[in-house]
Amino acid sequence: MKRRQLIQAGFAASGLLALGGCATSGAGVPASAKVVVIGGGYGGATAAKYVRLLSDYKIDVVLIEPEASFVSCPMSNLVVGGTRSLAEQTMSYSTLSSRHGVRVVRDMASKIDATSHTVTLASGATIRYDKLVLSPGIELMFDGIQGLREAHASGQVLQAWKAGPETVALRQQLEAMPDGGVYAIAIPEAPYRCPPGPYERASVVADYFKRAKPKSKVLILDAIQDVTSKPALFKKAWSELYPGMVEYRPQHKAVAVDAKTRTVKFDVQDDVKADVLNVLPPMRAGAIAVQAGLANSNARWCNVDYQTFESTAAKDIHVLGDSIQVAPLMPKSGHMANSHGKVAAAAIVAQLTGLEVDPRPMLTNTCYSFVDAENVIHVASVHEYVAAEKTFKTVPGSGGVSAQRNELEGRYALVWARNIWADTLG
Ligand SMILES: Cc1cc2nc3c(=O)[nH]c(=O)nc-3n(C[C@H](O)[C@H](O)[C@H](O)COP(=O)(O)OP(=O)(O)OC[C@H]3O[C@@H](n4cnc5c(N)ncnc54)[C@H](O)[C@@H]3O)c2cc1C
Repeated sequence: MKRRQLIQAGFAASGLLALGGCATSGAGVPASAKVVVIGGGYGGATAAKYVRLLSDYKIDVVLIEPEASFVSCPMSNLVVGGTRSLAEQTMSYSTLSSRHGVRVVRDMASKIDATSHTVTLASGATIRYDKLVLSPGIELMFDGIQGLREAHASGQVLQAWKAGPETVALRQQLEAMPDGGVYAIAIPEAPYRCPPGPYERASVVADYFKRAKPKSKVLILDAIQDVTSKPALFKKAWSELYPGMVEYRPQHKAVAVDAKTRTVKFDVQDDVKADVLNVLPPMRAGAIAVQAGLANSNARWCNVDYQTFESTAAKDIHVLGDSIQVAPLMPKSGHMANSHGKVAAAAIVAQLTGLEVDPRPMLTNTCYSFVDAENVIHVASVHEYVAAEKTFKTVPGSGGVSAQRNELEGRYALVWARNIWADTLG
C-alpha cells in the first residue's frame, strides 16, 4: 500500500473508530508503547493524533504532558489586552483519548535514554518506545539577563510567553497600572518563539490603554534593528491608531533588570524605567531536549533531518515545534509546529510499517496578528522539502502579507484558531 493510500485509509477510518483504541487518560503508565510523545502542545498533540490516524489506529501512542489542559499561546495576547478570557484559550485533552485512543499520561518526562529507548517520568515510572516524539516547546534563558530570574520568581517582572496563569498575572499588572504609566516590552535577538508575538502584544496593550488609560505609553525595546515581522503594517498601525502612545526603540538589547526600581538596562543604550516591565529573555529548546543532548545547534536548538524530523543527534527521536533549529524563513509558530506534527507522524508511520517515507513533505504557515481588538494583519508561507539540499524552502509565489489591516481578517484569525485547535486536539 502506498503512503497516500495509507493516509487516505487512516482518514476514512477516523469517523468509524471514534470509540476504538485504548482510551485511558490518566489511568496508569504503560511499560511500553510503539510511539511515546513528550509534550502535548501544538507539535506533540498533533503528532500523537496523526500517528493514530495514519496508522489506522494500529500503533500505540502514549502522550506525556504535565498540564491538565492545553492552554493556547495563539490568541493569548488578547487575554493580556483584556478582550478574551484564559478559559477561552483552554482546552481538554479528552478527545485525543476518547476519539483517537491516545493514552494521555499526566506527568513530566525527566530523562531520555536514547540507547535503551526509554523515558523516565518524574513519578519514577519508565516507558520503553520504538519511536519518541519530542515537542517540549521553549525554555526561557533567564540567566541571559542579569537579575531576571529573581525578578520573575518574585512575580515583579513577567514574561507570559507560555500561556497560563502568568498571562492573567500580566493582565492584572496592566489593570493595576495608573493612567499615565508606562508598559515596556523587551524583545530578544531572533530566533525566539513567535516573531510577531511581541509586536502584537504591544499593539493590543496600546488598544487597551487607548480605551482605559489614554495618558499611558507603550515602549517596544527591540534587541535588533527593525521589527522582524510585518514591519510596515505594524508601524502604520502604531502611528495611525496610537499616535504618541507607542514608541519603537530598535537596538535595545536588555542585559539586566532591577525589579525594585523597575528598570531595564541595555548593552549600549540608556536605562529605561517602566511601571509594567515585560522582559523576554533569549530562548532555547525545551529543557528536556537540552538535558538529553539533542540541542546540537549552538547548544540551543535541535538539528533534525527535515524529511522526517528525526534528530541528527539520536536515532528514533523526532523533535518538533519551537525546539528545532529551523530552515530559513520557517518561523517558530503553533501553525508550523502543527505542520511538523503531521509530517513527522506520516514519516514515523511509514518507518514503522515499512512504507516509503514521503520524499517531498510540505509545511504551511499563517500568522495572524491583532493590531487592536478587531483589526488583523497576516503573513503566510508554504515550504517544501528540497531533497537535493536536505532543507525546506519557501515555494516561490506562495503566501504573502495583508495589503492593510482589516476586520475581516480579525474574523479569519478566530476561525483559524478554532480550526487549528480542532486539528490538534479534536
Ligand atoms: C503570546 C504568543 C502568541 C502567539 N501567537 C501565535 C499565533 O497567533 N500563531 C501561531 O501559529 N503561533 C503563535 N505563537 C507561537 C506558538 O505558541 C508556539 O510556536 C507553539 O506553541 C509551539 O509548539 P510546541 O509544540 O513546540 O510547544 P508548546 O505548544 O509550548 O508545547 C510544549 C508542551 O510540552 C510540555 N512539556 C515541556 N517539557 C515537558 C516534559 N519534560 N515532559 C512532558 N511535557 C513537557 C509543556 O507543558 C507544553 O504543553 C504564539 C506564542 C506566544 C507566546
